[in-house]
Amino acid sequence: MTMRVRFAPSPTGYLHVGGARTALFNWLLARGQGGEFILRIEDTDRARSKPEHTEAILHGLDWLGLDWDGEPHFQSEGVERHRADALRLLDEGKAYRDFADPSTAVGAASGAATDEEGRRRVRELAESVTPEESRVRADAGESFAIRFRVPAGETSWEDAVHGRRAVQNAAIPDLVVLRRDGTPTYNLAVVSDDADMGITHVIRGDDHLSNTPKQILLYQALGWPVPVFAHVPLILGPDGKRLSKRHGATAVGDYESRGILPDAMVNFLALLGWSPGDDTEVMDREELVARFSLGRVLKKSSVFDVKKLEWLNGQHLARTAADRLEPLVTAKLQLISGVSSDYLRGREVWYRSLIDLLRVRARTVDDIARQAVVYLTDDLEYDEPAVRKHWLKDPNTTVDRLEALRERLADVEWEKSALETAIRGMAEELEVGAGKVIHPLRVSLTGMAASPGIFDVLTLLGRDRALERMDRAIEGLKRGTFAGTQNERTRA
Ligand code: GLU
Repeated sequence: MTMRVRFAPSPTGYLHVGGARTALFNWLLARGQGGEFILRIEDTDRARSKPEHTEAILHGLDWLGLDWDGEPHFQSEGVERHRADALRLLDEGKAYRDFADPSTAVGAASGAATDEEGRRRVRELAESVTPEESRVRADAGESFAIRFRVPAGETSWEDAVHGRRAVQNAAIPDLVVLRRDGTPTYNLAVVSDDADMGITHVIRGDDHLSNTPKQILLYQALGWPVPVFAHVPLILGPDGKRLSKRHGATAVGDYESRGILPDAMVNFLALLGWSPGDDTEVMDREELVARFSLGRVLKKSSVFDVKKLEWLNGQHLARTAADRLEPLVTAKLQLISGVSSDYLRGREVWYRSLIDLLRVRARTVDDIARQAVVYLTDDLEYDEPAVRKHWLKDPNTTVDRLEALRERLADVEWEKSALETAIRGMAEELEVGAGKVIHPLRVSLTGMAASPGIFDVLTLLGRDRALERMDRAIEGLKRGTFAGTQNERTRA
């Protein structure tokens, strides 16, 4: 039998990282076992479901690369089937009509139906109405809910994550399957849909653990095979509490706009609650598909660690070919600078080598774009701490060294190793460490204290632009343009 799994989000909000992780585990299992991954939008809560949330969920899955099989299903389209299933339970005596008006005392007890007392009263009330009487009242137009009659005994299942679980049925209230307004409840709709779609494995969050025995009882009552259940552990914030907005971004979309790569997000989500069984951390999706199994899903909750996500992203950035990164970086660049895509297309080879250079130290696509601006416009911004540290401690010496260097570089062949020989040679002649020459040079070329290797920066900028930037630094330092920085610092 083909394995069939599903992701069944309710479109009442954006795609949460917890939901994305559930989707991913289902997808990994399906792709690894030649199964099918079905998407079902559970939109029966009319008031809270919004088309824009459905859009956001579809977009999030798309961005993560979690492709589903066939068209997405919408739970609301199955309402007639859900009703028919509830009526069948009624016909077969496995459910009963509950006429209690929720606004009355008995009705309130039946509405809650959580404590022993409430359960007993609901059942007693139901038993006091004969099936004939019940039919007559219904035919007369009296409104009622349909309640499933929970049988005596125990309900157990072998959870693929938690092992054997068992619940005494006495602890389960007679659940409403069809409300007084004719709408199906969550437990009925899910069972009806999962059976209809031939779902073989239900993989979902731990928060559904208490629903599972109810759903198993419904499967049994309706005469359908019970699927395998796997409940994946919660995701926690760094303080050990359930992950929420308090901890920062919880929407998958936030990480997309922050420059996280889909591969890194997938890798990170996979490790939230699953382990490959060894120390491997950086994995592409093929490897994840090959290695994933429900047996290695952890029982314990795992902590959402943004630093780890950024680290993984850095690892994936370093492994991703520049031509795949290029459109992402370009999109970001256009947001933060006026650089046009025509301009970039005109210097394709150069632009790719720039990305190649920058991605090695970057943690996000945003990092790459932010750094790339330095090489794409000549409108340099000088970082204050960098200027103070590498120029203004001794502005006169800085000017002397930059001038000497400028003169030397004017005649050097503009090629990495020749540049390196020239610059290191100069530091030796001046009897200073290479850093004393390289740091001020870096600030003059990039405005920053950190950059890729200085010889790469020089070759990337080319002779004219590099010398021009050095000239600007020398002039500014002579005129005292940068001295304000120092004054401000003295005042502070
Ligand atoms: N729609 C439910 C939710 O979003 C999921 C139902 C299920 O996976 O069984 O929590």
